[in-house]
Amino acid sequence: MRTKVAIIGSGPSGLLLGQLLTEAGIDNVILDRAGKDYILGRVRAGVLEEGTVGLMDQAKSGARMHAEGLPHDGFSLAFDGRDHRIDLHGLTGGKRVMVYGQTELTRDLMEHREASGAATIYDAANVTPHDFDGETPYLTYEKDGITHRIDCDFIAGCDGFHGASRKAVPASAIRTFEKVYPFGWLGILADVAPVSHELIYANHPRGFALCSMRSESRSRYYIQCPLDEKIEDWSDERFWDELRRRLPAHHAEALQTAPSFEKSIAPLRSFVAEPMRFGRLFLVGDAAHIVPPTGAKGLNLAASDVHYLFSGLAEYYGERSSAGIDAYSGRALSRVWKAVRFSWWMTTMLHRFPDTGDFGQKIQEAELDYLTHSTAAATALAENYVGLPY
Ligand SMILES: Cc1cc2nc3c(=O)[nH]c(=O)nc-3n(C[C@H](O)[C@H](O)[C@H](O)COP(=O)(O)OP(=O)(O)OC[C@H]3O[C@@H](n4cnc5c(N)ncnc54)[C@H](O)[C@@H]3O)c2cc1C
Repeated sequence: MRTKVAIIGSGPSGLLLGQLLTEAGIDNVILDRAGKDYILGRVRAGVLEEGTVGLMDQAKSGARMHAEGLPHDGFSLAFDGRDHRIDLHGLTGGKRVMVYGQTELTRDLMEHREASGAATIYDAANVTPHDFDGETPYLTYEKDGITHRIDCDFIAGCDGFHGASRKAVPASAIRTFEKVYPFGWLGILADVAPVSHELIYANHPRGFALCSMRSESRSRYYIQCPLDEKIEDWSDERFWDELRRRLPAHHAEALQTAPSFEKSIAPLRSFVAEPMRFGRLFLVGDAAHIVPPTGAKGLNLAASDVHYLFSGLAEYYGERSSAGIDAYSGRALSRVWKAVRFSWWMTTMLHRFPDTGDFGQKIQEAELDYLTHSTAAATALAENYVGLPY
């Protein structure tokens, strides 16, 4: 088989890139080691920046998102027993975010891809990029016991943090930066109305909590927990009790509960690999970087990478110019590092750290007080939260 762009990974970055290329008439194939149902069963991000919303429209896959997604004009920082609203819309001159689950976004992109007839190969084992430092790269993969080969012009490594693309790069060609946080997030999904129509980020002496949602009848709640916590020790009742303790009283009283249908613990980490291009192989999204979810940036960074790469590839095929693909790594990383900084800062401000003691707590209190009393500080937060321009 031959294609122009071989995409490894059918998560948000691979699907979005594939759909933009297909709409632009650029032939592409997506391979994923998992099956469609498994991919659609993953519960992850849920807050979309305007840039991501715009890319979904550009990929002609945004109709359901606009019909069912929830535009949000602000969120709440809860501390000292009170809510302090960050007016995203007012502080950024009219910008907002869209609450729409990653699962739904993935489903929309997959359905659109199927309708457009572009090829996706699920359950592809041992996907391996070859010869990407030369002019004729190709991929091999195994399916049903047979080894296949796909020749291509470019390979897009959209295969997440544990994928094959980054691993295929020689260690001497790549530099990585990492910070692992000393706690995780215990999260649940439940079919109850959200406790508030906007997100609540709570700083509490017992630890961070986040009240989020996927729709007007489905809530996503998280609490900070130690890394060695075991999911089986957390009954729903224990989770709801702990969440109530970390929220201002009026929210705790209003909190509706129901049996959870998803419950998991995720570790928090910041990670960046540089550069993001190796000859004819590009790393995109989680394959190149991970952020803690506190700033809602993971999926949105995957989308901005796709924007830069798609622009470069469209320029290459439309104008026979390599300028865009040559600039890809630098342009993407410049935005990635700003989001890495923001996600680290939000995480540092809102969580209890085991080793910072009373001093660290006082600094957090000063920071939160400053943010909620200074328009300049709140504007900087809002500008980053809605997403820096591409
Ligand atoms: C548990 C969890 C919770 C998260 N919560 C949030 C959140 O609340 N907010 C937020 O903004 N972000 C969150 N994120 C991050 C966000 O989901 C990711 O940033 C986003 O999924 C990145 O998209 P991606 O397409 O780059 O990678 P992925 O979504 O990881 O997709 C990669 C795809 O590649 C496939 N693949 C992997 N290895 C191979 C291989 N060897 N061969 C072929 N295919 C392969 C995988 O099956 C997958 O389909 C969360 C992530 C996790 C893991």
